[in-house]
Amino acid sequence: MNPVFAASDVADLIEKAEQGQRLSFEDGVRLMRSNDVAALGYAANLVRNRLHGDTTTYIVNRYLHYSNVCWDTCKFCSFYRKPGEPGAFAKPLDEIFSWAQRFAGQSIQELHIVGGLHPSLKYDYYLDLLRGLKRILPSTALKGFTSVEIDWFARISRKPVETVMREMVEAGLDSLTGGGAEIFADRVRDLLCPNKIRAARWFEIHEVAHRLGLKTQATMLYGHIETPQERIDHMLRIREVQDRTGGFQVFIPLAYHPENNALRGVERATGMTDLKVYAVSRLMLDNVPHLKCYWISAGLKLAQIALSYGVDDLDGIVYEHERIFHDAGSSTPQSVSEDEIRHMVREAGRVPCRRDSRYRLLEEVAA
Ligand code: SF4
Repeated sequence: MNPVFAASDVADLIEKAEQGQRLSFEDGVRLMRSNDVAALGYAANLVRNRLHGDTTTYIVNRYLHYSNVCWDTCKFCSFYRKPGEPGAFAKPLDEIFSWAQRFAGQSIQELHIVGGLHPSLKYDYYLDLLRGLKRILPSTALKGFTSVEIDWFARISRKPVETVMREMVEAGLDSLTGGGAEIFADRVRDLLCPNKIRAARWFEIHEVAHRLGLKTQATMLYGHIETPQERIDHMLRIREVQDRTGGFQVFIPLAYHPENNALRGVERATGMTDLKVYAVSRLMLDNVPHLKCYWISAGLKLAQIALSYGVDDLDGIVYEHERIFHDAGSSTPQSVSEDEIRHMVREAGRVPCRRDSRYRLLEEVAA
């Protein structure tokens, strides 16, 4: 072990990580409680370098919010509107398709599709949405819907999740987003989103997707009312499923943004907390290949530093119409050019590389 960290309160855990040993729940809680962020970063960076060297991936993508109307009222959510409320929208398919036509023929690797739980849109709307987008953008991967939306589709169609997933895949769905995970612990869900599907259902839907050959993502919304134990519990539930399915390709910690929602009196997590969460995520999730920094939420400067705290993947290049974090007060830019991302990665001493939706590298990276 680097002697600089020999006196750290987590020196024994740094050593465990160095030796590639799996960390326990108790280990994770100790790491999460430690203020030795430099030691955490050192260990997370070792793991990151072991897995990916200096390669730092990003994807060229577009974001589609088909609707922000939702019957639910999660306390941390600044995105949803009730039907008829000012700012509520549900886009007609022809409007979405003419928007997508603008990108036909361009090299866009992924379209990220997410919305609320609309009380009256029909199930066929979602299948027609996928079919139409696939027709217009045949070589763009459609990464669509949270498992909360998939559960909703199963309810409105009165079909089992597996049938819904099969129909979605036939219509063009390529992968599931990682949203709706929030914090898995019932205590947090009872307080913040009591109507939302529970952890077991969230995992059931991802496991169906994995069985059908889809790769999916997992997120964690942190920095609100959760405890260190609940963060680690969240990670370990993902690790346990990943041991069985191998279907999660990336973990994405998302900091809670406090504006324009019903959760009062909670400050945005500090940069130290952000870096600690990234580092501990990298150390605990030893079987999830990638750790993403969602710069639209974290900010570009923190994203650059996070590349030394376990992160090997940055989210996309252009976020037209990004709403979820900007409605919640995020002041990050709406878009960033590919040159800017590459410059930022190089300046951090890493090697930028464009990837596709399955994390295949799209350019040669020097060893
Ligand atoms: S987080 Fe999702 S389910 Fe909850 S209110 Fe917002 S859009 Fe609806």
